[in-house]
Amino acid sequence: TTVDPAAGKAVYEADRAHVFHSWSAQGLIAPLPVAGAEGSYFWDYEGNRYLDFASQLVNTNIGHQHPKVVAAIKEQADKLCMIQPAFANDARSEAARLIAEIAPGDLNRVFFTNGGAEANENAIRMARLHTGRQKVLATYRSYHGATANAIALTGDPRRWPNETGVSGIVHFWGPYAYRSPFYSADEAQETERALAHLENTIVFEGASTVAAIVLETVVGTAGILVPPPGYLAGVRALCDKYGIIFIADEVMAGFGRTGAWFAVDNWGVTPDLITFAKGVNSGYVPLGGVVISDRIYETFRERPFPGGLTYSGHPLACAAAVATINAMRDEKIVENAKWLGESVIGPELRALAERHPSVGEVRGLGVFWAVELVKNKETREPLVAYNAAGADAKPMNDFAAACKARGLWPFVNMNRTHVVPPCTSTEAEVKEGLAILDEALTVADAFTV
Ligand code: PLP
Repeated sequence: TTVDPAAGKAVYEADRAHVFHSWSAQGLIAPLPVAGAEGSYFWDYEGNRYLDFASQLVNTNIGHQHPKVVAAIKEQADKLCMIQPAFANDARSEAARLIAEIAPGDLNRVFFTNGGAEANENAIRMARLHTGRQKVLATYRSYHGATANAIALTGDPRRWPNETGVSGIVHFWGPYAYRSPFYSADEAQETERALAHLENTIVFEGASTVAAIVLETVVGTAGILVPPPGYLAGVRALCDKYGIIFIADEVMAGFGRTGAWFAVDNWGVTPDLITFAKGVNSGYVPLGGVVISDRIYETFRERPFPGGLTYSGHPLACAAAVATINAMRDEKIVENAKWLGESVIGPELRALAERHPSVGEVRGLGVFWAVELVKNKETREPLVAYNAAGADAKPMNDFAAACKARGLWPFVNMNRTHVVPPCTSTEAEVKEGLAILDEALTVADAFTV
């Protein structure tokens, strides 16, 4: 830990004077100055340490300051910090080779970006050019990034103030058994009805106008929605039937988060394009990308791909990815994430759900879990309304404050808290976090009726 309040104050004041923050009313925020981080923890300048149950923005899959990744970045910095994308580079070649090796089926080529939004921008660009069609279908319960097309694909309320007239994006409902948009009685019915709804959407939009369907394999920020059995295979079949490109957004779900390298591996489904970022190198240096099937690659063999980025395949970012993937393999980090989900987080959360009247449902896999809070278990009324803010969000704000006061940094979105610690977490760390969650949930329980 660090105890240097004067340094923390200087960081805070310069931030308030000069830094413009994401998603925020600039005058209403008070960012916590962070002095350092290691493994599953980070700390401030006041001697407070937090267990990072959010993995920052669900991206530090390998934890903070993994020594092998830090060393690889230093080594690459000494060797070559920057080379533009038109050249070939050893770190970039090896990162692409490793990603292609991990990716399912014939997804053998990688286009590198700086993050997830750019990955989705370029994936839909590829799909549109490959098919010669314009429309893209995406789900309401989703987040795909903050650039023009990516925010238009997004279903969550962050899209609303950004509707700048990007055309050709149509939203549909994905499966969500606990709050079924199809009034389904069980998962099998949910799969069947969600697929029928998707097929209707395709037919009524005009199958010959639809370039791509973009889905988060497991929906992340919008609720950790694990697809019911058969759903992804059904989407694959619809895409094949209508000549539509299946884009799996694995920016959050990829690289170990679900206890598999890619989340699609859990269902044995191969999309045409996978977008990734976050866990590929835990964000130590910004990196994202698109993994591309042979078929789509062929479209751009003789015809130029009309997209690019100065920092595509940045050597520092790629060296961090190579070290990350190798460390995850050597240290069995993906296996650890799977084990934590099956043997620790799942059972403990289910027990917690029994004890707390505010817990409506727990769901997830690997180190990717949601605890959905309700006013009443029978009615399933959310503890706070969709997109509640300010005083209306008080129950969730009080719950988050109770976590932080006890040294746990939670991921809170709407009426949910997500349990999304690093894939490297130990059993003891996860249990420490869940014990704090258990205490903090009594604060939420007080708002139940
Ligand atoms: N897609 C998903 C599923 C995400 O969760 C995110 C970020 O949270 C993005 C895309 C956007 O990634 P980035 O913030 O790196 O642009």
